[in-house]
Amino acid sequence: MRNESLTAGDLFKFDYFKCLRSEFAKNECRICIDLCPEGAMVFDRTKLTLDTEVCTACAACVGSCPTEALISETFDPNRFALEFSQQKNPKISCKENVPCLAALSSEHLITIALRKEGEIFCDLAHCEGCSINRDNRILETIETMIDEAERFLQIFESEKRIERVRELPDDAPETGRRGLLKKLVNVANEVNEETTMTELMNLSGEKQPLKRILLKNSLKMAAEKFSEETTVEADFSFVVNKTIDAQTCTNCQECAMFCPTEALSILQDNTGIIFQMGKCIACSICDDVCQPGSIHSDKTFDLVTFTFDRMQLLVKHTLEICEECKVAFPYRGGERVCDRCKDFRANHGDLFTMARDME
Ligand code: SF4
Ligand code: SF4
Ligand code: SF4
Repeated sequence: MRNESLTAGDLFKFDYFKCLRSEFAKNECRICIDLCPEGAMVFDRTKLTLDTEVCTACAACVGSCPTEALISETFDPNRFALEFSQQKNPKISCKENVPCLAALSSEHLITIALRKEGEIFCDLAHCEGCSINRDNRILETIETMIDEAERFLQIFESEKRIERVRELPDDAPETGRRGLLKKLVNVANEVNEETTMTELMNLSGEKQPLKRILLKNSLKMAAEKFSEETTVEADFSFVVNKTIDAQTCTNCQECAMFCPTEALSILQDNTGIIFQMGKCIACSICDDVCQPGSIHSDKTFDLVTFTFDRMQLLVKHTLEICEECKVAFPYRGGERVCDRCKDFRANHGDLFTMARDME
């Protein structure tokens, strides 16, 4: 049962057009498939789809989707990140304020850590016995998310720590549905609704995921704490640095045309490619579409470049008109003939020889 936008019991939605796997033939993203405890994300021919009869709307997959294609109708992680940052309660818990900690991503956790005063506690005390934590996959995902958020915060030596609560204290009160509702009412009084809504509304219409824009806004607020050296070698799941080999790039521009977040764009005069690390979601679609294999990823991460969407010129070509096909091509010296015409000559040279011999 496939549809462009599928809803499970009005609680959970899959936006087909935002899904990397569904929109790009070669993309191999399967994060949600691997995480879903019910096997609700399935392939229908080559396309990913949500089986609405199987999905229980647990929201365990929501935080891990790089493009925000998975949406819980009852929990918005971006809104939560902003609201929780304003509250006094320091604990993120599936018994109090989130459906599952995996409904958040490391980008949300960093946003919270940067905006919230005081310590942050992630309540992992209920994960082991949880019915959706099959084969420990959900707990491992949450732990990886916290580790990644902490590694990111260490880049600028932030003193903020994200504590993990693994055991319930003996006198812990039973948090039933009534207790949860009471807490949410108290919490609502602490939140500046207008500020939250204004920030979220200003983000609409962007090609990047909203969690990324919130993260960059949070980093801008903390920019005075950045150390002088902001470049590190670091492996983050949500961003990569890109380079292009000018010797092999054909200036076909497909990497920029297919990039889902516009992290890659084309120079105005069509002579090269620009990269904005702050918009990249490490989806690898650019690598997949680049036929000569000229575009590469590395782990160089620069906090200022990322935060302020600085542009990096990855490749700049000198264009010439090919003497044979009359189309512009990147000229690297020597004969003014493009690679395509050279290839054609090399592969079909016999035809021309025969024609000449017959004259
Ligand atoms: S995690 Fe998101 S982008 Fe990846 S396959 Fe699932 S829905 Fe698509
Ligand atoms: S890097 Fe690859 S895809 Fe991008 S313009 Fe160059 S050849 Fe084309
Ligand atoms: S630059 Fe490449 S890896 Fe980054 S978002 Fe664009 S297509 Fe994906």
